[in-house]
Amino acid sequence: MPEPKKRKTHQKTRIRRSTKTKKTIEAIKCPKCDTLILPHHVCRVCGTYKGVKYVDVEKRERKKKEREKEEAQKEELSK
Ligand SMILES: [Zn+2]
Repeated sequence: MPEPKKRKTHQKTRIRRSTKTKKTIEAIKCPKCDTLILPHHVCRVCGTYKGVKYVDVEKRERKKKEREKEEAQKEELSK
């Protein structure tokens, strides 16, 4: 079996392990609704990015409710 020729110094170990730390994710405030969002992401609450609307939130909510209704109906039928 191959083995390391020399032991790693404390400093080398520390340098290697320093890259494995978890980095904190910086959250920014949405300019429109002031909720915390990830940078470079569309806001989930109002559907805007840099003040421009990209996602129709009302439509998304409506579709979600419809889907839930359909699933509830399916469950009732299967019982
Ligand atoms: Zn927003």
